[in-house]
Amino acid sequence: MSARQPQCDVAALSDKGRVRPINEDSYRICAEQRLFVLSDGLGGAAKGEVASAMAVESVVASLQEDATAESSSNGDGNGVLSHETKTLVEAIQLANQKIHEQGTRDPACRGMGATIVAARITGNRLSVVHVGDSRAYLLRANKLEQLTADHSLVAEQVRQGLMTPEQAAASELQSVLTRALGTEANVEVDADEIELFPSDSLLLCSDGLTRMVPEEEIATILVQAAAVPAAAERLVERANEYGGQDNVTVVVIRLLKSKSWLAKFMPWFSPNLV
Ligand code: CA
Repeated sequence: MSARQPQCDVAALSDKGRVRPINEDSYRICAEQRLFVLSDGLGGAAKGEVASAMAVESVVASLQEDATAESSSNGDGNGVLSHETKTLVEAIQLANQKIHEQGTRDPACRGMGATIVAARITGNRLSVVHVGDSRAYLLRANKLEQLTADHSLVAEQVRQGLMTPEQAAASELQSVLTRALGTEANVEVDADEIELFPSDSLLLCSDGLTRMVPEEEIATILVQAAAVPAAAERLVERANEYGGQDNVTVVVIRLLKSKSWLAKFMPWFSPNLV
């Protein structure tokens, strides 16, 4: 893709943890397209690993067919999404249909489902879309911000003020999702766009990380790691040290301070500061 794209370092790691017999998480990185996709197959349901693999492969295939990014329109900042974000949403809706159809057609896959979280960087804009409780985080100026709102029963109850975050973290209903890919013929996809800055970091992760490792510690690991592979390794290691109750997958993306990118998108930014 064009030189407009920011330079970034990326590392990803997936581990089955210490309890589950298999890994039902999947992820794909398309470095050239700055596309990052992570999916968590629903535990307890049939063929979670099939559903999560279908989810990431289908989204990547759809986006690779979408070669119009160069001439695309920007979002207007008033809730109208850019072409890149819209195509990502459509790709996820198509993945949902495929998983749902296979779950309906194949008895071995009946009821299978998965979460999905996907990030796509276009210039200095991030498109982030998700369904379920896999998350995207932004680390900026050493502060960690969750970009996605979990589609889970306990998260909905916290948002409605019916439960505290502490009660949610201790609840036995944590794994009950209010939205997932594959469980219905159609799915509502949450989508958002934000402006990125040099030195921002992004984290995509499955709940095997966030249910095990406190957010403050996730932030510390991302801040302190010298490079993204070390951050990914440490995050997975900590999830396992806390018990590794679930599969854990992380994708860590760090935007580099590229002078050409700064000059293109932030002409006010002095190159002397780089
Ligand atoms: Ca999981």
